[in-house]
This record gives sequence, C-alpha cells and structure tokens, in this order.
Amino acid sequence: MSYMAQRVADFGTTIFYEMTTLANEHQAINLGQGFPDFAAPDFMKEAAVAAIQSDINQYAPANGRPALREAVAQKVADLYGLQVDPNTEVTILHGATEGIFATVMGVVNPGDEVIVFEPFYDSYVPAIKMAGGIPRFYTLRPPDWQIDEAELAALFNNKTKLIIVNTPHNPTGKVFNETELKLIANLCQTHDVIAMTDEVYEHIVFDGHQHLTLYNLPGMAQRTVMVSSLGKTFSVTGWKVGWAVAQPELSRAVFRAHQFMTFCGAAPLQEAAVTAVSQPKAFYTELTEFYTHKRNFLVDALKSAGLSPINTSGTYFVMVDIAKLGFADDVAFCRYLTTEVGVAAIPPSAFYSTPADGAGLARFAFCKEEKTLAEAAKRLQRLQKL
Ligand code: PMP
Ligand code: GLN
Repeated sequence: MSYMAQRVADFGTTIFYEMTTLANEHQAINLGQGFPDFAAPDFMKEAAVAAIQSDINQYAPANGRPALREAVAQKVADLYGLQVDPNTEVTILHGATEGIFATVMGVVNPGDEVIVFEPFYDSYVPAIKMAGGIPRFYTLRPPDWQIDEAELAALFNNKTKLIIVNTPHNPTGKVFNETELKLIANLCQTHDVIAMTDEVYEHIVFDGHQHLTLYNLPGMAQRTVMVSSLGKTFSVTGWKVGWAVAQPELSRAVFRAHQFMTFCGAAPLQEAAVTAVSQPKAFYTELTEFYTHKRNFLVDALKSAGLSPINTSGTYFVMVDIAKLGFADDVAFCRYLTTEVGVAAIPPSAFYSTPADGAGLARFAFCKEEKTLAEAAKRLQRLQKL
C-alpha cells in the first residue's frame, strides 16, 4: 500500500524548493526563486513589532481583521476606482497562494474545465487537480507572448468554469493590455465563466505600461475574484498576507474553502499589513523606479555575458532565450549555471504542461541588492568562455 494519496503522487517537488536547495549547496547567487535579499521597509517591521507588543496574538476573525479588510477596500477604491464592501466582499488569506487554492476549491466542481495561460505559476495546476478540475492550456509564445483571439476562444466550452489571469505575468513579464483583457471579459460573459485574477505583481510595471485589472471591465465585477498579496509589493514574501476581493456570493465560496484550510493567517501580521496597504500612491511609483533600475542592470549583465534576455514589462523576472547555447534543455542549463557558474536561475519547463515548450528558456529574478546583482554579473561573464 502506498502511504501517499494519488491526489498528490504526481506533483513532484516544487522547482522553487529544488533550485534554492541547489543554490545553497553550491553557494550560488540565487536569482532563481523570487524573493528579495534586502530589508523590508522599516515602517512594516515597526508595525509588526507594535502589533505583537500590543498583544494582537490570538486568532484573527476567519475573514480577516476588520481594519485590514477596510484598508484593502480603500486601496482598490483609490487605485482602481472600485467600490467594495469590506464586510462581504473582502477576504484576508494566508498569502495569494491560499487565495488561489481557496478560490479554485470554492468554485470548481469535479469535471469542470479551468483555462490557464502557460507558462503558469506553479500552484495553479495542482490546485485545479485537487479540486477535480481539468486544466486547459493557452500557450503564450516568446518573444511577445501575444494572445490569438481564435485560439483562446477555442478553449471555452460549456464545461469551462474558471479562467486564471495573472497580470503582470510570472514568469514572462507580460502585462496584459486592454484589448486582451476585453477579449477575456467578452469570452467569460459569453460562456458564463468566472475569472480569478492573480495580481501579486500589480505594482511592478515598467516602461509606461499600466496594470489593468479585469475586475474593472464592464460586466466583470460580478464574476471576478481578484487575488493579491503583500509579499512582492512590500518585500515580505515570508509574511504570507493576501486577500481576495469578489462580490458576496463568490466571496462566500472562497471563504467556505478558506475557513477549513487555515481558518486565518497570522493576526499580528494582518495588523501590520494595514500600515502597508494604506501607503500613499507615491510608494508604488517609487517601487516602479526601484525595480526599473534593477531590471536594467540585470538585462545589461545578461547581454554582456552573451545571453539573450526577452523584453520584460512587469514583475521582477526576466526570461532568457537559451535555445542556441548548446544545452540539452533548460534544466541542464540551470543546473550548470548554478553548480559551475555560481548563479541560480529557474528552468521554466516546470511551468508548461508540455515541458519541452520551456526547454529553450531560463528565468532570472532581479529582486536583489545591487551588490548581489553585481556579483552575479561578474560570475555570468564566465559564460563567455563556453
Ligand atoms: N502568484 C504568483 C504569480 C506568484 O509569483 C506568487 C509568488 N509567490 C504567488 C502567486 C504567491 O504569492 P504569496 O507569496 O502571497 O502566496
Ligand atoms: N513567486 C516566487 C517565484 O515565482 C516563488 C514562490 C514560491 O517559492 N512558492 O519565484
């Protein structure tokens, strides 16, 4: 008898854990898993310490601390012009990862189809499978990652329940434009499909691109669950404070799943998150400048090492075309880079239903201190000698 349930037997180990372990074993500069190596803002740390000192140390309400739900409602009002009720339309979750899982568990029935853009964030497909759903993939292709209307429309049918839209998109750096979001919105309404948006990189967009949320398109507020979190915007990926915004019936669906997964996240961090989510718009403008600088630095370093970065418009990742470098595939390249060159990257084949589709790509993260990126740039020069 196998102790492991069939439900999880095929999942393997997440590529983020695998590559970070390999990077640590070889003292490689970790440009793989996306987490900042610099300090979180002082105002965040002070707010967390104050929350613990004032004994906010017991369970939060299952749908989240009221002040944080109010702050999230205010944030989406200020930034996107949305009017949502903090009591019935906002749920606080243990990071966006739980938001994704609770949404999928809350709305997908066994046999329902879920449309996913690939390359995809690695938790989507396991969530769909654990709900008994069937993933249907739209493959985004480099270098533009554009959407073909007929190809996308062909994925919708009367079994489609949900589409997952991650913009800005990890790992490609694509920022979905208005035409693409309108196309998705029309298809959702024609086929009565729910959308889950994953907007964790909502404040990291470059070159004048604008982050647009599907929730805001006509007819979409009643059928969209908007998921986001603190991790990327406030450089606290380990805090795991996230939220889902949706009309009351959809919020109830998310909540019903969430209450029996975690019941609630860390109460003092939810309290500290109020300070974060209430930052003025200037905070987000500065974040864009901060990451534009880092992106430019890494892109230049990759080019000067003879690599071919693909244009990235958002997130803190850049994809590189490695097809002509002579490696068997992306896994071979990323392992070589980590163990021999001393820089870790993520092999994107883990983000495709057909791994061969990612075999000619590698993903690098630039959410790192300048000195980390400079050391990576130096080490990458070793590739010139290949
Ligand atoms: N979605 C995407 C696209 C991500 O890159 C991440 C990264 N962690 C998450 C969701 C998960 O966010 P959280 O850390 O808040 O769970
Ligand atoms: N979001 C991060 C990335 O894409 C990692 C998330 C994780 O480790 N689960 O690199």
